[in-house]
Amino acid sequence: MKRTNIVLLLLVLLMACNGPKKITTADQPAAADLVRFGKLYGSVYMQRAAEYRALCFQAYNIARLRLDNILITTSTKPRAIITDIDETVLDNSADEVHRDMRNKPFDPVEWNKWTSMAAADTVPGAVSFLTYAASKNVEVFYITNRDEKDRAGTLQNLQKYNFPNADNAHLIVRQNTSVKEARRQQVMADHDVVLLLGDNLGDFSALFDKKTYDERLTSVEQSAAQFGNRFIVLPNPIYGDWENALYQYKQLTPAQKDSAVKKWVKDY
Ligand SMILES: [Mg+2]
Repeated sequence: MKRTNIVLLLLVLLMACNGPKKITTADQPAAADLVRFGKLYGSVYMQRAAEYRALCFQAYNIARLRLDNILITTSTKPRAIITDIDETVLDNSADEVHRDMRNKPFDPVEWNKWTSMAAADTVPGAVSFLTYAASKNVEVFYITNRDEKDRAGTLQNLQKYNFPNADNAHLIVRQNTSVKEARRQQVMADHDVVLLLGDNLGDFSALFDKKTYDERLTSVEQSAAQFGNRFIVLPNPIYGDWENALYQYKQLTPAQKDSAVKKWVKDY
Protein backbone atom coordinates (compact mmCIF):
# COMPACT_ATOMS: atom_id res chain seq x y z
CA MET A 1 0.00 0.00 0.00
CA LYS A 2 1.27 3.43 -0.93
CA ARG A 3 2.24 5.72 1.91
CA THR A 4 -0.50 8.29 1.00
CA ASN A 5 -3.15 5.57 1.08
CA ILE A 6 -1.98 4.43 4.53
CA VAL A 7 -2.23 8.00 5.82
CA LEU A 8 -5.75 8.34 4.40
CA LEU A 9 -6.81 5.04 5.94
CA LEU A 10 -5.48 6.09 9.34
CA LEU A 11 -7.38 9.40 9.08
CA VAL A 12 -10.65 7.61 8.26
CA LEU A 13 -10.17 5.22 11.18
CA LEU A 14 -9.43 8.12 13.53
CA MET A 15 -12.61 9.98 12.46
CA ALA A 16 -14.68 6.81 12.86
CA CYS A 17 -13.39 6.34 16.40
CA ASN A 18 -14.15 9.96 17.44
CA GLY A 19 -17.47 10.29 15.62
CA PRO A 20 -19.31 13.61 15.52
CA LYS A 21 -18.70 15.94 18.48
CA LYS A 22 -21.14 15.03 21.23
CA ILE A 23 -23.07 17.84 22.92
CA THR A 24 -22.24 17.78 26.59
CA THR A 25 -23.86 19.59 29.50
CA ALA A 26 -20.91 22.01 29.37
CA ASP A 27 -22.20 23.25 25.99
CA GLN A 28 -25.63 24.04 27.36
CA PRO A 29 -26.70 26.99 29.49
CA ALA A 30 -26.36 26.18 33.17
CA ALA A 31 -29.46 26.28 35.34
CA ALA A 32 -28.68 29.81 36.52
CA ASP A 33 -27.90 31.17 33.06
CA LEU A 34 -31.38 31.69 31.69
CA VAL A 35 -31.59 35.40 32.49
CA ARG A 36 -27.97 36.04 31.48
CA PHE A 37 -28.49 34.37 28.10
CA GLY A 38 -31.76 36.25 27.72
CA LYS A 39 -29.95 39.53 28.23
CA LEU A 40 -27.35 38.55 25.64
CA TYR A 41 -30.11 37.67 23.20
CA GLY A 42 -31.83 41.01 23.86
CA SER A 43 -28.51 42.78 23.35
CA VAL A 44 -27.84 41.17 19.99
CA TYR A 45 -31.38 42.17 18.97
CA MET A 46 -30.58 45.79 19.83
CA GLN A 47 -27.21 45.64 18.11
CA ARG A 48 -28.03 43.66 14.97
CA ALA A 49 -31.77 43.56 14.27
CA ALA A 50 -32.76 46.08 11.60
CA GLU A 51 -36.23 45.76 13.16
CA TYR A 52 -34.91 47.29 16.40
CA ARG A 53 -33.64 50.29 14.45
CA ALA A 54 -36.97 50.51 12.63
CA LEU A 55 -38.84 50.56 15.97
CA CYS A 56 -36.64 53.39 17.24
CA PHE A 57 -37.16 55.39 14.05
CA GLN A 58 -40.89 54.75 14.38
CA ALA A 59 -40.87 56.14 17.92
CA TYR A 60 -38.92 59.25 16.96
CA ASN A 61 -40.97 59.81 13.79
CA ILE A 62 -44.13 59.79 15.91
CA ALA A 63 -42.44 62.19 18.35
CA ARG A 64 -41.76 64.58 15.49
CA LEU A 65 -45.34 64.40 14.20
CA ARG A 66 -46.61 65.13 17.70
CA LEU A 67 -44.20 68.00 18.16
CA ASP A 68 -45.22 69.59 14.86
CA ASN A 69 -48.86 69.44 15.97
CA ILE A 70 -48.05 70.96 19.35
CA LEU A 71 -45.98 73.77 17.82
CA ILE A 72 -49.08 75.07 16.00
CA THR A 73 -50.64 75.89 19.39
CA THR A 74 -49.61 78.63 21.80
CA SER A 75 -47.99 78.26 25.18
CA THR A 76 -47.49 80.65 28.09
CA LYS A 77 -44.30 78.94 29.29
CA PRO A 78 -41.16 77.94 27.38
CA ARG A 79 -41.61 74.52 25.85
CA ALA A 80 -39.51 71.54 26.87
CA ILE A 81 -39.07 67.84 26.26
CA ILE A 82 -38.04 65.52 29.07
CA THR A 83 -36.02 62.54 27.97
CA ASP A 84 -34.44 59.59 29.74
CA ILE A 85 -30.89 58.70 28.66
CA ASP A 86 -30.13 54.98 28.87
CA GLU A 87 -31.77 52.92 26.13
CA THR A 88 -33.70 56.04 25.11
CA VAL A 89 -30.99 58.26 23.59
CA LEU A 90 -27.82 56.26 24.43
CA ASP A 91 -27.39 52.54 23.75
CA ASN A 92 -25.50 50.65 26.49
CA SER A 93 -25.94 47.17 25.05
CA ALA A 94 -22.15 46.82 24.63
CA ASP A 95 -21.77 47.18 28.40
CA GLU A 96 -24.46 44.56 28.95
CA VAL A 97 -22.68 42.16 26.58
CA HIS A 98 -19.32 42.83 28.28
CA ARG A 99 -20.86 41.82 31.63
CA ASP A 100 -22.85 38.83 30.42
CA MET A 101 -20.00 37.30 28.40
CA ARG A 102 -17.90 37.32 31.57
CA ASN A 103 -20.78 36.14 33.77
CA LYS A 104 -20.53 39.21 35.99
CA PRO A 105 -23.44 40.80 37.85
CA PHE A 106 -24.29 44.48 37.56
CA ASP A 107 -21.76 46.45 39.60
CA PRO A 108 -22.08 50.23 40.15
CA VAL A 109 -18.28 50.67 40.11
CA GLU A 110 -18.01 48.89 36.75
CA TRP A 111 -21.00 50.85 35.47
CA ASN A 112 -19.27 54.12 36.37
CA LYS A 113 -16.17 52.91 34.48
CA TRP A 114 -18.38 52.35 31.44
CA THR A 115 -20.11 55.74 31.63
CA SER A 116 -16.71 57.44 32.11
CA MET A 117 -15.57 55.98 28.80
CA ALA A 118 -18.33 58.00 27.05
CA ALA A 119 -18.46 55.07 24.63
CA ALA A 120 -22.21 54.39 24.42
CA ASP A 121 -23.67 54.48 20.92
CA THR A 122 -26.79 56.51 20.13
CA VAL A 123 -30.31 55.12 19.86
CA PRO A 124 -31.35 55.45 16.21
CA GLY A 125 -33.28 58.66 15.50
CA ALA A 126 -32.54 60.31 18.87
CA VAL A 127 -29.99 62.93 17.79
CA SER A 128 -31.99 63.87 14.72
CA PHE A 129 -35.26 64.31 16.62
CA LEU A 130 -33.83 66.23 19.58
CA THR A 131 -31.83 68.47 17.24
CA TYR A 132 -35.04 69.22 15.38
CA ALA A 133 -36.84 70.02 18.65
CA ALA A 134 -34.04 72.37 19.72
CA SER A 135 -34.25 74.11 16.32
CA LYS A 136 -37.89 74.88 17.21
CA ASN A 137 -36.85 76.44 20.56
CA VAL A 138 -37.93 73.41 22.56
CA GLU A 139 -35.48 72.84 25.43
CA VAL A 140 -34.33 69.29 26.14
CA PHE A 141 -33.94 68.09 29.75
CA TYR A 142 -32.20 64.78 30.43
CA ILE A 143 -33.64 63.11 33.55
CA THR A 144 -31.56 60.03 34.25
CA ASN A 145 -30.81 57.55 37.02
CA ARG A 146 -27.13 57.87 36.30
CA ASP A 147 -25.65 59.65 39.33
CA GLU A 148 -23.17 62.47 40.04
CA LYS A 149 -20.18 60.17 39.50
CA ASP A 150 -21.44 59.55 35.96
CA ARG A 151 -22.01 63.24 35.16
CA ALA A 152 -18.76 64.12 33.36
CA GLY A 153 -18.71 60.98 31.19
CA THR A 154 -22.41 61.36 30.40
CA LEU A 155 -22.01 64.95 29.22
CA GLN A 156 -18.96 63.93 27.17
CA ASN A 157 -20.93 61.08 25.58
CA LEU A 158 -23.88 63.33 24.72
CA GLN A 159 -21.62 66.11 23.42
CA LYS A 160 -19.70 63.62 21.27
CA TYR A 161 -22.86 63.16 19.19
CA ASN A 162 -23.95 66.82 19.38
CA PHE A 163 -27.07 66.20 21.42
CA PRO A 164 -28.70 69.58 22.16
CA ASN A 165 -28.64 71.08 25.69
CA ALA A 166 -25.89 68.64 26.74
CA ASP A 167 -24.85 70.77 29.72
CA ASN A 168 -25.04 70.72 33.51
CA ALA A 169 -28.23 72.80 33.60
CA HIS A 170 -30.13 70.25 31.52
CA LEU A 171 -28.68 67.02 32.93
CA ILE A 172 -30.68 66.01 36.02
CA VAL A 173 -29.06 62.97 37.60
CA ARG A 174 -30.27 60.75 40.46
CA GLN A 175 -29.66 62.14 43.93
CA ASN A 176 -31.33 59.93 46.53
CA THR A 177 -34.10 58.16 44.63
CA SER A 178 -34.54 56.49 41.28
CA VAL A 179 -38.15 57.75 41.25
CA LYS A 180 -38.25 60.60 38.72
CA GLU A 181 -41.47 62.44 39.60
CA ALA A 182 -39.89 65.18 41.77
CA ARG A 183 -37.32 65.88 39.05
CA ARG A 184 -40.05 66.08 36.42
CA GLN A 185 -41.99 68.54 38.60
CA GLN A 186 -38.85 70.64 38.92
CA VAL A 187 -38.75 71.06 35.12
CA MET A 188 -42.52 71.46 34.82
CA ALA A 189 -42.52 74.33 37.33
CA ASP A 190 -41.34 76.77 34.68
CA HIS A 191 -41.66 74.84 31.42
CA ASP A 192 -44.50 73.53 29.33
CA VAL A 193 -43.37 69.90 28.98
CA VAL A 194 -44.83 68.74 25.68
CA LEU A 195 -43.34 65.23 25.36
CA LEU A 196 -41.67 62.62 27.56
CA LEU A 197 -39.33 60.04 26.05
CA GLY A 198 -38.26 56.82 27.74
CA ASP A 199 -37.80 53.05 27.67
CA ASN A 200 -39.20 52.48 31.16
CA LEU A 201 -42.71 53.38 32.34
CA GLY A 202 -41.20 55.27 35.29
CA ASP A 203 -39.84 57.76 32.73
CA PHE A 204 -43.37 59.02 32.10
CA SER A 205 -45.49 59.25 35.23
CA ALA A 206 -45.58 58.44 38.94
CA LEU A 207 -48.60 56.32 38.05
CA PHE A 208 -46.20 53.55 37.05
CA ASP A 209 -43.71 53.69 39.93
CA LYS A 210 -43.02 50.48 41.88
CA LYS A 211 -46.17 48.80 40.71
CA THR A 212 -46.74 45.07 40.71
CA TYR A 213 -46.99 43.14 37.47
CA ASP A 214 -50.82 43.36 37.48
CA GLU A 215 -50.88 47.03 38.45
CA ARG A 216 -48.47 47.87 35.63
CA LEU A 217 -50.79 46.26 33.09
CA THR A 218 -53.80 48.11 34.52
CA SER A 219 -51.96 51.45 34.56
CA VAL A 220 -50.91 51.00 30.93
CA GLU A 221 -54.53 50.23 29.96
CA GLN A 222 -55.67 53.39 31.75
CA SER A 223 -53.00 55.45 29.95
CA ALA A 224 -53.36 53.81 26.55
CA ALA A 225 -54.21 57.09 24.81
CA GLN A 226 -51.00 58.74 26.05
CA PHE A 227 -48.61 56.41 24.20
CA GLY A 228 -47.56 57.94 20.90
CA ASN A 229 -49.21 61.12 22.13
CA ARG A 230 -47.50 62.61 25.19
CA PHE A 231 -45.42 59.53 26.03
CA ILE A 232 -42.96 58.16 23.42
CA VAL A 233 -41.70 54.67 24.28
CA LEU A 234 -38.45 53.13 23.07
CA PRO A 235 -37.93 49.33 23.11
CA ASN A 236 -35.65 47.80 25.76
CA PRO A 237 -35.65 43.99 25.78
CA ILE A 238 -32.71 43.78 28.24
CA TYR A 239 -33.85 45.30 31.55
CA GLY A 240 -36.27 47.69 33.21
CA ASP A 241 -39.09 47.73 35.73
CA TRP A 242 -40.84 45.13 33.57
CA GLU A 243 -38.13 42.74 34.79
CA ASN A 244 -38.04 44.08 38.37
CA ALA A 245 -41.80 43.58 38.65
CA LEU A 246 -41.33 39.87 37.81
CA TYR A 247 -38.96 39.68 40.79
CA GLN A 248 -41.36 41.76 42.97
CA TYR A 249 -38.55 44.36 43.20
CA LYS A 250 -36.48 41.99 45.37
CA GLN A 251 -32.73 41.47 45.13
CA LEU A 252 -32.51 37.90 43.85
CA THR A 253 -29.63 35.57 43.04
CA PRO A 254 -29.21 34.55 39.37
CA ALA A 255 -30.73 31.13 40.19
CA GLN A 256 -33.73 32.78 41.89
CA LYS A 257 -34.22 35.07 38.87
CA ASP A 258 -34.17 32.06 36.56
CA SER A 259 -36.81 30.33 38.69
CA ALA A 260 -38.96 33.47 38.67
CA VAL A 261 -38.76 33.75 34.88
CA LYS A 262 -39.73 30.10 34.49
CA LYS A 263 -42.81 30.78 36.61
CA TRP A 264 -43.85 33.78 34.51
CA VAL A 265 -43.45 32.36 31.00
CA LYS A 266 -46.59 31.14 29.27
CA ASP A 267 -46.48 27.60 27.96
CA TYR A 268 -49.34 25.52 26.60
MG1 LIG B 1 -33.69 54.14 30.35
